[in-house]
Amino acid sequence: MVVWAQTDDGVRGFLVPAGTPGMTATPITQKLSMRASIQCDVVFDGVRLGPDAMLPAAMGLRGPFTCLNEARYGIVWGAMGAARDSYEAALAYSQDRLQFGKPLAGYQLTQEKLVNMLLEIQKGTMLAYYLGRLKDEGKLRPEQISLGKLNNVREAIKVAREARSILGGNGITLDYSPLRHAANLESVRTYEGTDEVHLLVLGQHITGLSAFR
Ligand SMILES: Cc1cc2nc3c(=O)[nH]c(=O)nc-3n(C[C@H](O)[C@H](O)[C@H](O)COP(=O)(O)OP(=O)(O)OC[C@H]3O[C@@H](n4cnc5c(N)ncnc54)[C@H](O)[C@@H]3O)c2cc1C
Repeated sequence: MVVWAQTDDGVRGFLVPAGTPGMTATPITQKLSMRASIQCDVVFDGVRLGPDAMLPAAMGLRGPFTCLNEARYGIVWGAMGAARDSYEAALAYSQDRLQFGKPLAGYQLTQEKLVNMLLEIQKGTMLAYYLGRLKDEGKLRPEQISLGKLNNVREAIKVAREARSILGGNGITLDYSPLRHAANLESVRTYEGTDEVHLLVLGQHITGLSAFR
């Protein structure tokens, strides 16, 4: 387990091997989101580690933020993957499902939903691509990652929910992916910086005023 902890020398990172005496990790069950991955309730009680457990180069908050920035950048893409899969499931379904003798895809209301999904997927993917180019050039700034994570997750969850509506009653079953994506994206809104925190990062960036506290 990678643990970031406050020390006399500021925040430092520690590698805590599974089975270390005093450490317990109890899986959190009964989740409605991210059900395929395990999160644990972690307790440290009198845990002792040798000096080699400390990450030598990570000093201060820069260490965890560097990790978070990598994960957040990945989410900018991942959210669009979930949105695209939802859209493709809804598009395929709407082309097959007949109502009054014609595919759902042939109705204007369905086309509006599909086109609006497509617009957000294309915009979000282009944003991810642009941020990736900046990253390759070593120019990607944390507030730009906040912009990508906040926007792409927020839009992806809207796309997944709209896709579910095209699937009608079938959309609430495990046979189709959009509602699963929407449920998982609820977690993604929260981890790696909540929507609110990314919004405040951007608010601070454009106003120069911190509203975190
Ligand atoms: C599936 C999943 C996996 C996770 N994996 C990890 C992991 O591997 N490692 C890890 O360390 N954590 C992990 N987390 C925890 C996650 O990082 C936290 O849940 C998240 O940071 C929010 O913290 P919290 O749950 O304590 O909510 P809180 O901090 O209590 O926040 C609750 C609400 O209040 C808002 N809020 C809080 N403070 C402010 C403020 N100052 N201004 C405005 N609004 C505010 C938040 O945005 C949120 O909407 C995971 C969470 C999930 C769901």
